[in-house]
Amino acid sequence: MGTKMRILFVTDLHGSRWKYERVLETAGSSGVDMVINGGDMFPHSRDLSAQSVFITGFLDEHLSRYDSAGILYLCYPGNDDLRVHDDLFEETCDKYGSVVYLAQRRFETQGFEFIGMNWVVDYPFRLKDRCRKDTDDYVFQPQLGSGLLSTPEGFEEVDDWFARAGTVPTIEEEMECLVRPNDMERAVYVIHMPPSGLGLDECANGVQVGSKSVLRFLRSHQPRLSLHGHIHESPGISGRWNARLGDTVCVQPGQLEDLAYVIGDLSTMALERVTESREP
Ligand SMILES: [Zn+2]
Repeated sequence: MGTKMRILFVTDLHGSRWKYERVLETAGSSGVDMVINGGDMFPHSRDLSAQSVFITGFLDEHLSRYDSAGILYLCYPGNDDLRVHDDLFEETCDKYGSVVYLAQRRFETQGFEFIGMNWVVDYPFRLKDRCRKDTDDYVFQPQLGSGLLSTPEGFEEVDDWFARAGTVPTIEEEMECLVRPNDMERAVYVIHMPPSGLGLDECANGVQVGSKSVLRFLRSHQPRLSLHGHIHESPGISGRWNARLGDTVCVQPGQLEDLAYVIGDLSTMALERVTESREP
């Protein structure tokens, strides 16, 4: 069975300070070795400075407390976290030995390997910082307007988004070029985008928007665990927060008004989903 490895996985906090605080308290009181934050970490804002203020004015000090507590914190920005702040956020993570910036990286501890991927399949919304075609033959959804990419000078408006999306790698290609773990049986993939077809990707209108590339990758490589987010309402719509894909357990805790997270042990794979309201 091996050494215990207790983790707490949370995702899509979108700048909710009480949720961040509660996760830190729970991590301390329950004695987890590691918190994994699956992205969409900053407040939803199209104001370029609001998210950098959250990083410097809140997250910096918050992450230092994980360092003091000796709890590992693996994280990366999601599709709603502007790419223009990636350097600032990575530098903030790098200040603390316990904090790991996991986007397109591998991190190993206690014989377990963690691999992050934060590109998402394109959607109708305008912000395209981390959007990709799922596969080469991907069919775009109708769009809510021209595309937007964050830059230091402000938002670049992209009128020919479908053409632009054809110039960058697909999710399928991104998955293939991720660094591979030494041992898939002890590997945990942290992929903001949920796989298709498992009930972890259902929107409020019942449409399933998961990635076929992510599904195929997990099915053919069979890691121990995959952790997803992105579709906040999915567990409430499909009634599922986890699924089995051969030997792989796939988890998507969702995130609505209450705090939702998954806590458990990687050595036994006993995992449970917990929800907590703001007022205990
Ligand atoms: Zn997202």
